[in-house]
Amino acid sequence: MNFKKIFTGPLFWILTAVLLLLVVVPLLFTSSGAGQRVDTNVGMELIEDGQVTEARIDDGDSRVDLTLAEEFELDGENLGDAVHFHFSQARAETVVEAIAEADLEGYTDEPEQSNWLLSMLGFMIPFLLIALLFIWLITRMSGGGSRVMQFGKSKAKQFDKDMPAVTFADVAGAEEAVEELHEIKEFLSEPEKFQRLGAKIPKGVLLYGPPGTGKTLLAKAVAGEAGGSFYSISGSDFVEMFVGVGASRVRDLFKQAKENAPAIIFVDEIDAVGRQRGAGVGGGNDEREQTLNQLLVEMDGFDANTNIIVIAATNRPDVLDPALLRPGRFDRQIPVEAPDFAGRKAILEVHAKGKPMVPDLDIEQIARKTPGFTGADLANVLNEAALLTARSNADLIDDRAIDEAIDRVMAGPQKRTRLMKDHERRVTAYHEGGHALVAAALNYSAPVTKITILPRGRALGYTMVIPEDDKYSTTRNELLDQIAYAMGGRVAEEIVFHDPSTGAANDIQKATDTARKMVTEYGMSAKVGSVKLGSGDSNPFLGKEMATGKEYSEELAAVVDSEVRSIIDEAHDEAYWALTENRDILDTLAEELLRVETLNAKEVAEIFKDVKKRPKREIWESSPDRPILIDESSQRAETVNGRSGQD
Ligand code: ADP
Ligand code: MG
Ligand code: ZN
Repeated sequence: MNFKKIFTGPLFWILTAVLLLLVVVPLLFTSSGAGQRVDTNVGMELIEDGQVTEARIDDGDSRVDLTLAEEFELDGENLGDAVHFHFSQARAETVVEAIAEADLEGYTDEPEQSNWLLSMLGFMIPFLLIALLFIWLITRMSGGGSRVMQFGKSKAKQFDKDMPAVTFADVAGAEEAVEELHEIKEFLSEPEKFQRLGAKIPKGVLLYGPPGTGKTLLAKAVAGEAGGSFYSISGSDFVEMFVGVGASRVRDLFKQAKENAPAIIFVDEIDAVGRQRGAGVGGGNDEREQTLNQLLVEMDGFDANTNIIVIAATNRPDVLDPALLRPGRFDRQIPVEAPDFAGRKAILEVHAKGKPMVPDLDIEQIARKTPGFTGADLANVLNEAALLTARSNADLIDDRAIDEAIDRVMAGPQKRTRLMKDHERRVTAYHEGGHALVAAALNYSAPVTKITILPRGRALGYTMVIPEDDKYSTTRNELLDQIAYAMGGRVAEEIVFHDPSTGAANDIQKATDTARKMVTEYGMSAKVGSVKLGSGDSNPFLGKEMATGKEYSEELAAVVDSEVRSIIDEAHDEAYWALTENRDILDTLAEELLRVETLNAKEVAEIFKDVKKRPKREIWESSPDRPILIDESSQRAETVNGRSGQD
């Protein structure tokens, strides 16, 4: 708020009025009564001389008001026929006695009734004003003069049928999300089809992903397609200053939706209310928690036949209260990611409509220049380009305008930290390509199902290898392949750039962990033997070594270290072999990744069709392939190989 506003606004005047009254009112009422003040002695003389016709003692103020028989002059000054004087407590008795003795008419020592009432009133006025001020503030905050009574009403906007309808055709490059939401649309428009088969229609759908990827757009598209009522509200609308308002808004919103079913309730930016309860400092935010609780209650309250679906969107799925994600609430979760090359091209085509461009303008080229851009960024690029073109009085948008627009969007206020520089993209492409190619060239590795160099979370890119069916044990050869696979990224960087990056830290960690377990837990080292070393149930509060104490000798520890080391070195050699023998395929793969950013299983298989396989390892001497049970979670962790970011 700026200062000028404070001084000209009504708030300032009301506060001034209150202050003035607080100061003036008491003065007004206490200086009631007559005349000028005289010394105590002068007053006493007047009483004793019989010049006084009436006296009134005010005990509380230690003061006496005198009405005189005639006008009184002191030191040449006319004081009129009424004066007052104050007395000290020590003289109080003398004063009272003197007045009693003078036997005055109308002598009284009680303040007048009316005066008492008046001072009460003076006392009340500031409070009245404060109450008025408070009411005025409340009306202001609820957004309008006559809104006081509507405080708990929901602020949801209802979209009418004649709203400019967004359809799925307006959303490009988010096929998976659109497909999922298509289903939601069918739930709403033909619920019988699903209920006949006893299927439960989901109550809540959560769209999550980085800002600007089209989550709000998707929700609007569902509304536009489904044709029911659509209530849109932002999470922050629920969170008000007063406890209980948010909760009553939620109640009201669901009531409205139920009356107008089939309906979609869209809660944008749900993290504003949906944050984990009790997470705030000092016990958290009561208001927010109440609102969240009410939301959960409402979602539990309507049954599957009510035909209401709640769609929520957030950039921060990680901070959401787990209760929101439980079955029967937002149990459908749809990721909305930044688009890949093909997606960007499609989005650009959507937004290029109605923008005249020079005939040879290449949309594909724009898509290629904008890795990491979201749908909102791309829409922004085309809009900026149109503005620049208009500014230069040209008729058609050309490459120069586009290039400048890209620069503007990139350098714009939202810094694109996740946008990779060209070299970093190349390193990532070779790194991920290295993982994938090693997996393809080895004999016990699961097939590569996806490679991407699109940054996601803290990973710069990732490669996914997924076993064809569920596995509950892993063999030594499979573990060795996993380690070689983990080294593949780093080795590719070595071979191609001779300057490895920190991006492999996570891979090295995984490889080392697996190798150490092979030696100390799985009994896969001939030198150490089938001995379990160290304790599995480590104390979480102490370091592993501290908790377990020394269970084996320094000598054995040295053997373990050298065994781990030799497993890793061997894996490194295998990866090196796979990548140098197939160097041309590695280059093709990296180029393709740089071009399209994401490759699926089929595309990868096509590129890998001529991969030279590494000969199988020699039979292990101390025991043939021995399946070892490892727990499911560690197995899953090893199927996805993220490359960690450089932070
Ligand atoms: P979010 O809610 O994920 O932050 P929005 O839905 O508000 O993003 O997207 C902002 C704008 O960006 C949309 O209005 C649209 O113009 C554009 N946009 C974003 N994603 C897409 C997409 N996949 N296809 C077409 N336009 C998109
Ligand atoms: Mg949004
Ligand atoms: Zn990696």
